[in-house]
Amino acid sequence: MRPARRVLVLGGTAEARALAAAAQQAGWHCITSLAGRVSRPALPVGEVRIGGFGGPEGDGVGGLADYLAVGDFDALVDATHPFAATISAHAAAAAERTGIPLLRLQRPGWRAHPDAGRWTWADGADAAVAAGAEAARPLLTTGRQTITDFLAWSAKAVTVRVVDPPQLDLPPAWRVIRSRGPYGYAAERALLTELASDLLVTKDSGGAHTAAKLDVARDLGIGVVVIARPASVPGVTEVATVEFALGWLTDR
Ligand code: NAP
Repeated sequence: MRPARRVLVLGGTAEARALAAAAQQAGWHCITSLAGRVSRPALPVGEVRIGGFGGPEGDGVGGLADYLAVGDFDALVDATHPFAATISAHAAAAAERTGIPLLRLQRPGWRAHPDAGRWTWADGADAAVAAGAEAARPLLTTGRQTITDFLAWSAKAVTVRVVDPPQLDLPPAWRVIRSRGPYGYAAERALLTELASDLLVTKDSGGAHTAAKLDVARDLGIGVVVIARPASVPGVTEVATVEFALGWLTDR
């Protein structure tokens, strides 16, 4: 019998977990790679490896290319978060170096959301800081790694919502809420009301799991600043759904 074909899924997203399940179901041997950033990651089915490919020397491209070649992979799927730009660039370079086919699986962003036109779109955190200069009580939902970008707001009553605790001392006026989505409309409305938030800051993560806050902000008349996604890596085939990703694997 022919051995199962092997796919490496760069994960850390719900889409990556769904793809691991679907690929395994379709007869692929699926290994998911996680960066190891969150303390208790949601784990996919199948084999999992954890940590960057660079090691202490830091050559993530070479490390990933070696891992792909040694592991005799037939395909690579980059299903990391839309804002995980470094690993996506490394995946493209490692795929080119090894000749292993690469697919980018990325959920659609919120550009097509009915309210997208009334939000302030910011190209990066600095632009978001500038856009929110007038706010007094922002709710910051852009993730732990972006917190330092917003320290210019130390005098504001900022609430930061993160999965894992921030690794720095925050300004005394700031409050931290630790939680993990998905978040529903009623709970988001209760939170934004309790906090008396006057601004919501988010990344264009896309998807439904964290979208309720956008509807609440509209209904409560709260301003929204959305940090735009980094550009896709040119030349990489991209799909938006697990179904299409599975179809691409099937065609290998
Ligand atoms: P990043 O800035 O693109 O990557 C930084 C470094 O982390 C990479 O160079 C790589 O190290 C390592 N890395 C990232 N993803 C990896 C993976 N799936 N497997 C092995 N190593 C990985 O990424 P990030 O924004 O820190 O995100 C890290 C992980 O968290 C990603 O898997 C992403 O899907 C997930 N995540 C990110 C966000 C976000 O907003 N950025 C939100 C939710 C989930 P080496 O160079 O040493 O290989």
